[in-house]
Amino acid sequence: MSKAKMIKRMYREVHSLDRRLLPTTAVQAVIDSIKPFINIYFSARLITLLTQKANTKEIITNIALVLGINIVIFFLASFLNNYNENHRMMLLDLENKKVEEKLYNADYALLNDSVFKELLHRHEEAGKSRWARLPYFMWTTLQFTRGVLTTIISFIIIIPLLKVGFVRTGDTFFERPLFIVTIVAAIAVMAVVILIVASKINKSYLEANEKYAELDRIFYSFIDILGDYKTGKEIRLYKEQNLIDGIATQKILTDGEITLRKISMRTAKSSSFIAILGALVGFGMYLFIGVKGLFGLFGIGSLVLYCGSFMQIISGIMMFANTLGKLKEILPLARDYFKILEAESTMIYGNRELDLSNGFEIEFNNVSFKYPKNDNYALKHINLKISNGEKLAVVGRNGSGKTTFIKLLCRLYDVDEGEILINGINIKEYTRDSLNNLYSVVFQDYKILSLTVADNISASDECDNAKLYSALEKANIKARIEAMPQKEKTYLYKDLDKSGVEISGGEAQKLALARALYKDSPIVILDEPTAALDPIAENEIYSRFNSFVENKTAIYISHRLSSCAFCDRIAVFDNAELVETGTHNELISANGRYAELWNAQASYYLE
Ligand code: ADP
Repeated sequence: MSKAKMIKRMYREVHSLDRRLLPTTAVQAVIDSIKPFINIYFSARLITLLTQKANTKEIITNIALVLGINIVIFFLASFLNNYNENHRMMLLDLENKKVEEKLYNADYALLNDSVFKELLHRHEEAGKSRWARLPYFMWTTLQFTRGVLTTIISFIIIIPLLKVGFVRTGDTFFERPLFIVTIVAAIAVMAVVILIVASKINKSYLEANEKYAELDRIFYSFIDILGDYKTGKEIRLYKEQNLIDGIATQKILTDGEITLRKISMRTAKSSSFIAILGALVGFGMYLFIGVKGLFGLFGIGSLVLYCGSFMQIISGIMMFANTLGKLKEILPLARDYFKILEAESTMIYGNRELDLSNGFEIEFNNVSFKYPKNDNYALKHINLKISNGEKLAVVGRNGSGKTTFIKLLCRLYDVDEGEILINGINIKEYTRDSLNNLYSVVFQDYKILSLTVADNISASDECDNAKLYSALEKANIKARIEAMPQKEKTYLYKDLDKSGVEISGGEAQKLALARALYKDSPIVILDEPTAALDPIAENEIYSRFNSFVENKTAIYISHRLSSCAFCDRIAVFDNAELVETGTHNELISANGRYAELWNAQASYYLE
């Protein structure tokens, strides 16, 4: 997308996130630009009145007027300044809210896409400073507009000064038209030089910022590692702090300091050049205005007006120049943001509601699947029927495709070949809610959020306490929650609430189980639900398993073959294929893959 199109798009985005910010920024730019000229104008006017010995009433009226205007303008300017600054900062939160919505609705596969992950990472990094993307763009817009307006107003004011030069009132050098041309040319040259040098300075800032960002990244990652309770064990035992300290010192002393010193020398040189140039042109202009005044070409009031306005030309050009290189900083990050929002979803949901009044039957019909950008089949030619109320165990070695089977069933991914049917209809035809409501899943890599126990279990802000405690009891974690300071209202972990409670892996797994039970869906899927539990807790869960699932359909993945005993049927996966199905006894007598796994485990466990 071209620069102009991106700029247009950013304004549209700002306007859609915050309807008031563009108009209030425009008003602020106008008021900020007019502000200095009010005092310049009235000072000139008062001096003129004084030199003309005007009557006191007129002088007092003018003083009162300038005071009144100053109060109103000052109040308006500072109100708008605060208002716009707060709203600019909030833009970043509004952007992120949009990104969150996008992420929730994006295809699950996208979350594992390396290009998309890199995009998200850059978006997060950029957002760590609120001086980024749309807020930065709006600040730049404000400065740019102020700079342009200030320069234009100043020019309009000093036009009469230039005209005066054409009226020959004497024979001095200062009355020659050539002199006027010289002055205008000097201002123009100065403006161009300021713009060029300022864009160089901006480039240096950009480079310095990149260096700072790199150093920040390194040091925050070190702080993360050194301050992390979990890695703290290894750091201490292996004395890794010396290693990290060495890298940190080298990064600061070599990369960091030398690069930044070079950049600041360059910036200092350019800045002094601008300052000297500004002073020279300023000196020339003041001399010109002063000499003209001396020749009596205009009064002392006009002298003040012209000098003041000329000062404003310099400050206007500087302000405008300061914004020149900013687009280079803003555009790439804004592009990332728009790319995230544009990420395409290929998974289209149907609008058929799933009717469960007569139960259901699920069928995998010759299903094959490869993970995106992966050449190997994660599942190959799977044919399997799961009927209402059935308890199905899924077993197999690591990487044989068990979890992938569950992901396809829940339609987190779409199959590459074959189809998955529910009640004879392809799952693609059902609504997202129909499918979501069908399953309660505890994944192997379940995640408990840093919210309250009730929020986590009910997955909503409305929690039915009776149901909650019944689920907690079934998952054997009720007593632990009741002992927490604020019971089910206690925050877990400390990210969102400092008084949050840290829980162990086993406790978290029980909570994940309770969350699945609270959801109370027709199909319960447990993917290695007891991996983090000790043998006693594991045993308790097994003995309660039938009461968890009652007459629901259950799919149960486990490494521990003995724990599948209560299942009606066992499906054995091997190397992406479904190699056997049957009851425990049938599979043992078949003496196939299951019998092999069973015998291998029997030699470790006394079962
Ligand atoms: P299991 O649950 O039986 O341990 P999985 O279903 O997790 O096995 O994995 C099946 C195969 O798919 C493995 O070869 C694994 O490496 C691969 N796989 C699993 N998840 C992903 C993923 N997100 N991206 C790419 N490959 C994956």
